[in-house]
Amino acid sequence: MMRTCKYVDRSLRSLSLPLGSTATRSFSSKSQMKVGYYCHGEEKTGSGKQFQSINPANDEVVADVSGNTIEEVDQCIQSAKEGFEIWGKQMTGIERGRILNRAADLISENREEIALLETRDSGHCIAETKPAHVDQAVTTLRYYASLAAECMVGKHIPLENGSYALSVREPYGVTGAVVAWNYPFNMALYKSSILLAGGNSIVMKPSSKTPINTIGLAGLFSRAGLPNGVFNVVQGGSDVGSALCEHADVQKISFTGSTPVGEKILKMCAPTIKPVTLELGGKSPLIVFEDADILPAVKAALIANFYSAGEICTNGTRVFVHDSIYDSFCSEFKLQAERLKVGCPEDPETQIGALIDGGHADSVRDFISKGQEEGANLICGGVGPIADLPKHLNPDTFIAPTIFSEVEDNTTLAVEEIFGPVASVLRFKETDEVIQRANATPFGLAAGLFSRDLKRANYVASKLEAGIVWVNTYNIYSPNVPVGGFKQSGFGREFGAEALDHCTHTKSIYMEMNPDAGNTDF
Ligand code: NAD
Repeated sequence: MMRTCKYVDRSLRSLSLPLGSTATRSFSSKSQMKVGYYCHGEEKTGSGKQFQSINPANDEVVADVSGNTIEEVDQCIQSAKEGFEIWGKQMTGIERGRILNRAADLISENREEIALLETRDSGHCIAETKPAHVDQAVTTLRYYASLAAECMVGKHIPLENGSYALSVREPYGVTGAVVAWNYPFNMALYKSSILLAGGNSIVMKPSSKTPINTIGLAGLFSRAGLPNGVFNVVQGGSDVGSALCEHADVQKISFTGSTPVGEKILKMCAPTIKPVTLELGGKSPLIVFEDADILPAVKAALIANFYSAGEICTNGTRVFVHDSIYDSFCSEFKLQAERLKVGCPEDPETQIGALIDGGHADSVRDFISKGQEEGANLICGGVGPIADLPKHLNPDTFIAPTIFSEVEDNTTLAVEEIFGPVASVLRFKETDEVIQRANATPFGLAAGLFSRDLKRANYVASKLEAGIVWVNTYNIYSPNVPVGGFKQSGFGREFGAEALDHCTHTKSIYMEMNPDAGNTDF
């Protein structure tokens, strides 16, 4: 058996490097741990492509990862079929809820280590990974644990002569989950919370950029009492993801990632008529009306653009500000953005950590350069190095909070999903004009608005083409509130009781009570 995370197997060597142990920037290829795949309650070494998890903040190798072959993906799917026989067919919802709650306890007990690994795997700062990646995910798990019994409750529908029909919910069976790198632990946990509460078994593929904590989660699920085969993890890139989507024994796919890949997933699922939940990209508007309180609106714009170094799908990256307050908003936004601390993700004071890797950071820098070429006004940040960045960090993966003003609709900055710490501020004058401009995008993931006039807020919220609208706040989530997109941001929903409708299906059972039934002529 392979051994990975300290929180999975306490006998392992300590993974916790002291803070600042990377004092000399290291490009060492010596890895800290081995990570494999998780099949039938056991971590194993894959025989597919080998790759590494690299800490983007300092280029240190966090783990050597063994990817999977298509045959190993198939083994995991077969294991999930066995797991489903117990989890989905023999256990009750109450038992499932009890195990999920036990898993929540174990995750909370291991919070510090999960958050540290998440920080090293993804570059997000520790001040975020503890509350936003771990604690929030545990709250979600407990919420779905509480619904595990209730979500299978069906309806009794009276018919003629004492006959009746039952309309019941049943799990799909083996489900596949393919996920992005930006919130790896949280995403693995919320997806599995929903699918498991719905009685399904899972084969999950994390992004190859962030392969670690999903394996740790699998170990904790096993320790909590999840039967073997109910939660399996495969490792690798698009070939492994495709193998899951195309497999005839996988009954449903839950995908979180970019819109172009979402389109491919949909096509891959078509030949087997597989239902899909797609959580895709966005280019969301945040509208600040002239009667808004400026400081709360600026703080929301900071969260909507710079939290998690801008690597959040629902970010409000098109900030529309009313002409009459435009200049004062921009100066306050710049002032506050320049105060944010960019630095070592393991330093608890840091507010903006590293981007996921150098390649992604370069693409963000290209967008910034393009914005300048297209005539937008760079008011803070930019492509330059971060002042006072500690020497042990890799300067290539850090980007300062960047704000452009005087951004025009239809320019690259206002159209493309950048997925980094880059905000565009656009000017508007009329309510209906800004609604039309906010909606002029193929995406429809989220939107926000600031106004003290609740009548107007209600009107604008009803007109915005987005799966979530925040009024006088931004990017807050609660596990009981559905999340998902309109238009090319996807379909299906995660979170809320509604998410359970997307991972179970309805069976109608007619119960005939008329003794003469069946004796009627054709
Ligand atoms: P991505 O689409 O490149 O990859 C997502 C997952 O799909 C990864 O596991 C990847 O290995 C896999 N994959 C890639 N190509 C594949 C293929 N051809 N076949 C099968 N699997 C394939 O996305 P990313 O770069 O990991 O994440 C960033 C994107 O995710 C952004 O667009 C962001 O907006 C989106 N996202 C959306 C949400 C949401 O809730 N809507 C949440 C987080 C991230």
